Amino acid sequence: MKRVSLGRTGLAIHPLVFGSLPLGPLQANLSVAAGARIIRTALESGVNLIDTAALYQTYPYLRTALEGFAGTVHLASKTHASDGMTARQHVEAALRALGREQLDIVHLHGARLVDPFVERAEVFDTLRQMQQEGKIAHLGLSTHYIVGVEKAAAEPDIAVIHPLINRNGMGILDGSARQMATAIAAAAAAGKGVYAMKALAGGNLISDARASLDYVRQLPGVQALAVGMLSEDEVLANIALFEEDPVDDQVWTQLQSRQRRLQIMEQFCKGCGQCLTACTNQALALKNGVAQVEEEKCILCGYCAVACPEFLIRVV
Ligand code: SF4
Ligand code: SF4
Repeated sequence: MKRVSLGRTGLAIHPLVFGSLPLGPLQANLSVAAGARIIRTALESGVNLIDTAALYQTYPYLRTALEGFAGTVHLASKTHASDGMTARQHVEAALRALGREQLDIVHLHGARLVDPFVERAEVFDTLRQMQQEGKIAHLGLSTHYIVGVEKAAAEPDIAVIHPLINRNGMGILDGSARQMATAIAAAAAAGKGVYAMKALAGGNLISDARASLDYVRQLPGVQALAVGMLSEDEVLANIALFEEDPVDDQVWTQLQSRQRRLQIMEQFCKGCGQCLTACTNQALALKNGVAQVEEEKCILCGYCAVACPEFLIRVV
């Protein structure tokens, strides 16, 4: 099984990272048993880093997948807290839910923050404190901003960066894919661990999935790539791709024909606009008092789903 060094963390990880968001209640809403089975297939195939977040509500899937598994599995979670106390609660809750004494990586979930180290200074201080306490091994930043990658590269306490990049640059909030690629290469050259996200732009590039994954995983500085996977076939197809084994064209044709989209139950929409505020891609608008999505701008990140107080939005 392939292993790559994640920056200077000392972690040797498979270049395919299991992205757990799509399994959970915000997206496919698989049963815990079904989701855990998919994760377990990935672990048994060599994947050894699972990416999750306080927001994703996927800890039960991870816990079940890890039951009785003998190998070493690294866990990365994120806190979207805006104050130190909530950040501490997020980390403590993750430790309890996952049955661990230490998380390998905790990211400042700063996807939509231009300057997370200023805007979330108290949260970052708390995470540093929890690292001192031994509850976190490495600190990270997840970001959709090029400037976020640049700031994280210059921040000595950040060991890992989890940036958004795909061949179309969809969802990058302050520039192009080429500019993000340059920032990623510089961050890795500065010793940061980099595992990327959204290579398929949340499913928008699924019809060209293989080429889109290849684009990101071959970028200089990208050591690994988190991919959300919803079936055991998809796990095995991705493993073959990342291991440079012969790939099954028929399976890929099938995987690439899937469609994903944002579903809004418009008939119940109160028109409060909270989902619009949560979307940094300007993919939502109120039309006749109800939220509607402009699909060509949507990266299926699910932030609007979390923001809707009526639970009317899902990625399906
Ligand atoms: S509409 Fe929702 S899922 Fe789509 S990009 Fe905006 S926040 Fe993300
Ligand atoms: S947050 Fe929910 S209720 Fe409010 S506008 Fe958006 S979909 Fe409608």
